[in-house]
Amino acid sequence: MPTDDFGLPSESWRWPERTWRGHIDAVRAGRRLVPDRWPGGARVAVALSFDSDHETIPLRDGETSPGRLAQGEYGARAGAPRILDLLARYGVPATFFMPAVSALVHPEEARAYTRDGHELAVHGWIHERNMLLDREDEKELTVRALDTLTTLTGRRPVGIRTPSWDFSDSTLDIMLELGFAYDSSLMADDEPYEIVAEGRPTGLVEIPVDWIRDDAPYFTMDRYGSVRPHSRPRDVREIWTDEFDAAYRDGGVFQLTLHPHVIGHRSRLVALRELLDHIAAHPGVWYATHAQLADTARGVLHGRTAAGSAADTPEHTP
Ligand SMILES: [Zn+2]
Repeated sequence: MPTDDFGLPSESWRWPERTWRGHIDAVRAGRRLVPDRWPGGARVAVALSFDSDHETIPLRDGETSPGRLAQGEYGARAGAPRILDLLARYGVPATFFMPAVSALVHPEEARAYTRDGHELAVHGWIHERNMLLDREDEKELTVRALDTLTTLTGRRPVGIRTPSWDFSDSTLDIMLELGFAYDSSLMADDEPYEIVAEGRPTGLVEIPVDWIRDDAPYFTMDRYGSVRPHSRPRDVREIWTDEFDAAYRDGGVFQLTLHPHVIGHRSRLVALRELLDHIAAHPGVWYATHAQLADTARGVLHGRTAAGSAADTPEHTP
């Protein structure tokens, strides 16, 4: 019978219960961390994020052709300035997750994020795939990423999003060891929650993401593949406004993950602008960085604000 590294059957249908239960229990969603009202009495929290990957996506895969790198360069050169202008015009903060190599190539951009009042957070060293790394390498790269952003901006990031949301068996331990306040890479809920590891609450806040609220799956294309997933930006905007409307109704969080090299194109930024217009037509919106949102979520965890947990408020509709 074929076995894995631990002598267990490699076919999942042969696993004993302790094996499949062990995999499930390793990293789990715990208490839902939604206050009765968001800061300022707001009824919805809006957390915009941008992953400023730029050239690191092709670099990570060893693709070094100037053609591929130029697609990433577009994000820094055309996308990011346009996004910063748009955010300034609407007066809203955002969180920028930036691989350290991207920040070293574009140090002025990294500093501009914090100078403009946005949050800069960790997004790996070179957009590495954590699932391919051993524990030591993953930790060393995460430490190096944290130190690089700290040196560049004079501020130590408090949050992390793993590159490609790739979460290894070691990722959670490394985050806890390095003292991050929150992670934003998992998808177990619409609302922030506490991460539970093997049944034990960790105190680490998760700000969940989802492919639905990400620009990449709607717009990116592999030149040599047969799939052409180009979507109409206004159709994508409609999906996001539906997500926002439901979060508003539920009194929850609307979180979005965008990429300067994807959404930063002229015809696509229209979708973000129209989304911001839609949100602006609603009273009671609290725009927060992911760090501010995590801080409020932690307040629920520690009883600083009125709690709305998954257990006691199955539907937290106002
Ligand atoms: Zn990324």
